Amino acid sequence: MPFSYEKAKQALLEEQTKLKKQLEHLKTTQHESIGYSNHMADDATEAFDQAVDVTLKRGAETSLEEVERALGKLDDGTYGLCEACGARVDRARLEALPHARYCLECQARREHSGKGSL
Ligand SMILES: [Zn+2]
Repeated sequence: MPFSYEKAKQALLEEQTKLKKQLEHLKTTQHESIGYSNHMADDATEAFDQAVDVTLKRGAETSLEEVERALGKLDDGTYGLCEACGARVDRARLEALPHARYCLECQARREHSGKGSL
């Protein structure tokens, strides 16, 4: 199947829905866990669970930002262009990662210079 913006948009919208649900779910579970710990051992487990929740939540929030950014780029016609060098991002890369912001070379350069992924 050839790559198309339509397909990318669909994948991004699906991802957006999934991430929003995930965030909603994390909010709910965090809310429910408040006030249910009466024992030391539970507190430790809960602190760990909450740390995991926070990590998951941050990850989901970051991904959601990336996905919404990519959707915005689809709208303004800059989707699929590397944000660093302006080159067209490899199709295979976009299929694997619809919200990719950089071409492989710029991505590798960023990872190498320790400026984080994406
Ligand atoms: Zn680039």
